[in-house]
Amino acid sequence: MDLKVKGKNAVITGGSVGIGLAVARKFAQEGMNVAILARGGERAEQEAKRIVEDFKVKALGIACDVSKADDISRAVKTVLDTYGGVDVLVNNAGTGSEETIMEATDEKWQYYWDLHVMAAIRMSRAVIPSMRERKGGVIIQTASICAKQPLWYEPIYNTTKAALVMYSKCLSNEVVKDGIRVVTISPGLVLTPDWWKTAGILSEKEGITPKDYLDNIAKENAPIGRFASPEEIAEFYVFMASEKASYSVGSNYSLDGGWLRVID
Ligand code: NDP
Repeated sequence: MDLKVKGKNAVITGGSVGIGLAVARKFAQEGMNVAILARGGERAEQEAKRIVEDFKVKALGIACDVSKADDISRAVKTVLDTYGGVDVLVNNAGTGSEETIMEATDEKWQYYWDLHVMAAIRMSRAVIPSMRERKGGVIIQTASICAKQPLWYEPIYNTTKAALVMYSKCLSNEVVKDGIRVVTISPGLVLTPDWWKTAGILSEKEGITPKDYLDNIAKENAPIGRFASPEEIAEFYVFMASEKASYSVGSNYSLDGGWLRVID
């Protein structure tokens, strides 16, 4: 299938590892130029270099903490100055949390709000003028199954991801007239370093290995009985970024191996 995305310019936040990196590499494989934003500039640059070598497209790795407004302005300026415009934005940077509502501080709530919600708002505001000039674009948020079906140990994650889904829906209504499609993808279990980090913390409390913890999670939760690989999730992103998904506006797609326990 020709997805007709060759030559388009994409920005992926949190694109230096995990789902974001798999998406950046899949986009590049389809001929898109990519810009990877992450706090760790060195890792982002290394991955960008690898993308150039592997797929012969343009790739930038930019140090950017997307929870900070100034970092976003600077990073998007670099992308616009280098590529001349943006066609696709993936708001993907994020991470899990662990707390109780009664114990979490205001500062912690604020950080996750900035990371999961304000980052998407600021990134979108920064690239939409360029998309309007180019008469179209696609904005994809990475939310989570937890936006609909909370995990007990991370109320801040659940809440901020749910807010991201609603933001995405509202933005989609506002910019569809400009030819800009906005959608959300909500993964379930995807085997990335973020999961190893979570497993490291929680397995210790249960007295089992991180690997056993992860196997148990997959078997107990996802009817498919396993984690997804970032690469199989990335296939859906490239489809959603393409014209083939032209009638998809404002929706939130679960990619969860059947984990969500309701029809939706
Ligand atoms: P990883 O931990 O593997 O990667 C996270 C990426 O985000 C890295 O590139 C990291 O780079 C970057 N990042 C983290 N914080 C910031 C920040 N403040 N500013 C800029 N970049 C940042 O995560 P995953 O691939 O697992 O997750 C990606 C997204 O998918 C997240 O939003 C997550 O919530 C969501 N998700 C993941 C699931 C899973 O099972 N893995 C399931 C459902 C949703 P650096 O550290 O250098 O900044």
